[in-house]
Amino acid sequence: MSLSPTLLYQILLKKLGNLYWWPIDKNYHKKNKSDPRFEVIIGAILTQNTSWSNVEKALENLKSDRKLNIKSIADANLKNLTKIIKPSGFFNQKAQRIQTLSKLLKDKYNYNLYNFFNRDIKIIRKELVSIKGIGLETADSILLYAGDKPIFVVDAYTKRICNRLPLDTETSYDEIQLFFENDLSKNYEDKILTKVYGELHAQIVILAKDYCRKKPNCTDCPLLKDCMFDDKLF
Ligand code: SF4
Repeated sequence: MSLSPTLLYQILLKKLGNLYWWPIDKNYHKKNKSDPRFEVIIGAILTQNTSWSNVEKALENLKSDRKLNIKSIADANLKNLTKIIKPSGFFNQKAQRIQTLSKLLKDKYNYNLYNFFNRDIKIIRKELVSIKGIGLETADSILLYAGDKPIFVVDAYTKRICNRLPLDTETSYDEIQLFFENDLSKNYEDKILTKVYGELHAQIVILAKDYCRKKPNCTDCPLLKDCMFDDKLF
């Protein structure tokens, strides 16, 4: 019998514990009177196609310049912004993306993330993915970790693990998301679903980085007993 998302969550929770994503620098925002959720939004865009250590360097640059807030990025000179976020890679496109979203937050929501997030999840998602360069994974990361909305984030690691275990799901983004949400929402109360989705996504990322890599390290994996993958293929 194949593993369910709920069982996967229970096994990973036991092994990895709560990971409390998304990492934010609360002291910076307290000191600068800025909204910490904006750091999640910017981080979710900067992390596209790069490692988190590169994102951290770009975020540090933004903080040193006191630019990690909606107004500063919306009003920044695009060339300068590109230089500041250079460590995150694909800096021309990413500078454009973070500025477009910041301008939207400035012009339509008066710099106020409460105004932005205090709406129906489907409407916010549609608005996010209408911005060039913001796809489903980025939009859902923003909704889950910045907006505190109950939506499961699917990434390449999730797809890899679904495929290897395997989990009994189809392969498209929407189908995998629905598969996780349907199962987890049956087993956990609505009031903790956002936390469960956030933790499980974080645990899957750690599992894929530490064990279920491209070349998997099955011997030490917490899922070894339940996994059908044949590591002799590697
Ligand atoms: S047992 Fe191996 S293939 Fe299966 S999830 Fe763990 S690392 Fe991946």
